[in-house]
Amino acid sequence: MPRQDMIGKVWLDKVDKKEVFYSSTRDSGNRATASQAILKGLAEDGGLYVPDHIPALEKSVRELADSSYQEVAYEVMRLFLTDFTEDELRSCIQKAYDEKFDTREIVPIREAEGAYYLELFHGATIAFKDMALSILPHLMITSARKNHVENEIVILTATSGDTGKAALAGFADVEGTKIIVFYPKNGVSPIQEKQMVTQKGGNTFVVGIHGNFDDAQSGVKAIFGDQELAAQMAEAGLQFSSANSINIGRLVPQVVYYVYACAQLLKRGVIREGEKINVVVPTGNFGNILAAFYAKNMGAPIGRLICASNENKVLYDFFETGRYDRNREFKLTSSPSMDILVSSNLERLIYRIAGDDAAKNAELMAALSAGGSYEITAQMKAQLADFYGNYADENETAARIREMYEHTGYVLDTHTAVASAVYQKYVKDTQDQAVTVIASTASPFKFTRYVMNAIDGSYDAMSDLELVDELSKIGKVAVPRAIEEIRTAPVLHDNVCDKTQMKAIVKRFLGIGA
Ligand SMILES: *Cc1c(COP(=O)(O)O)cnc(C)c1O
Repeated sequence: MPRQDMIGKVWLDKVDKKEVFYSSTRDSGNRATASQAILKGLAEDGGLYVPDHIPALEKSVRELADSSYQEVAYEVMRLFLTDFTEDELRSCIQKAYDEKFDTREIVPIREAEGAYYLELFHGATIAFKDMALSILPHLMITSARKNHVENEIVILTATSGDTGKAALAGFADVEGTKIIVFYPKNGVSPIQEKQMVTQKGGNTFVVGIHGNFDDAQSGVKAIFGDQELAAQMAEAGLQFSSANSINIGRLVPQVVYYVYACAQLLKRGVIREGEKINVVVPTGNFGNILAAFYAKNMGAPIGRLICASNENKVLYDFFETGRYDRNREFKLTSSPSMDILVSSNLERLIYRIAGDDAAKNAELMAALSAGGSYEITAQMKAQLADFYGNYADENETAARIREMYEHTGYVLDTHTAVASAVYQKYVKDTQDQAVTVIASTASPFKFTRYVMNAIDGSYDAMSDLELVDELSKIGKVAVPRAIEEIRTAPVLHDNVCDKTQMKAIVKRFLGIGA
């Protein structure tokens, strides 16, 4: 066969296999394989990696109805991570979704007041971040191996509470990795702090800093950008990476549970074949709802995507007006994981509705960075018809927790309550009666005080851990292992430093440049 044809044939084989490549939302010339994108996290130009096309599901929802969560995970993830072998991917899935979850279903679905709550909080840290952070470490070391990276991977993270613990739990004792987490010493809840400072694992380091979350975040960014340190790291066989929610290795595992939910509802006879469900997602950084959008584009029977915000309602305003504007007062609410003014993952949607136009997207992101706002064109806005945005204020959120408890005995966490309240507004606005899945992103035990105060204001005298027992009693649910453990767990990390000492402490942990 002439050489030319051989090359043509090889190329055609690749097309048949529907290989997915990733490119930066700000520079379409910046391309990577899935494993390279996972290793890098953010593209060098500041953009986010996006798949060059959304692969179509190869099995119907009917065919997936009897599949386990792990099996659905394989069916979905293999279509995105096309440079992983079957063995590699199955092994990552097996190590992630195991007994760390307190139920074999991994994500149980609970019906309440006619909606279906997809409980994404049964992992190690009882919040939905576990869905992605329990598999990311395995995807990352597999990616390193595939790309002949021999350095040890050092994960560096600043946290306002939830992500730090979920990342620590995911990376603890994963060979070939170390993880360093900085948190604001006086800026996280007592339970969140206890969860972090009791973290086991010889490769984990936790440090409280005198400063707020922004100080921790800026310090981490400065360390990432420090060329001298990078050279010293390389010499010692180390390199930094990020477990940030913009990593494609966090987004892809989140697509899985939306496909799984459709399959389970079909299996239970809640929906018929071809019938679409709506999805409501309590949103902060826009990662979780973007995953639902990807699931829909793969062919999962999903109708509308309902984006729920708290009082930091930048996204609601954006869906209403087509203008994204972060110039406003930042509000601290009872749903802290949604207290966000710049939703990083929205950039992936902007790029999509700009017609995969990196130059147009880069222009809008430059406007956001310079003046804090941008406006999309009418043509772009027309492509957002599947999205519906609304928000719930603090009173509405508390009322929703109380009413749900009074009507059904089911206890919602604050984030899920925002979504539940927005769902009620949606039905009132649209009269849409479609079957609806509400992403339930945290266990109420993670935000015990808020939840208990919403149900009954008479708990002020109780400590956080006493409240945990009270919640267990009134909600008739066992105290999750994640909370039970920290009652007696010894404190293993007592490092505290000034924000100016972060680099020095990183070097000390890593034993470099002494
Ligand atoms: C992170 C988080 C969210 C927001 O998810 P995004 O993907 O950032 O939109 C909502 N609820 C809880 C409990 C979270 O931890």
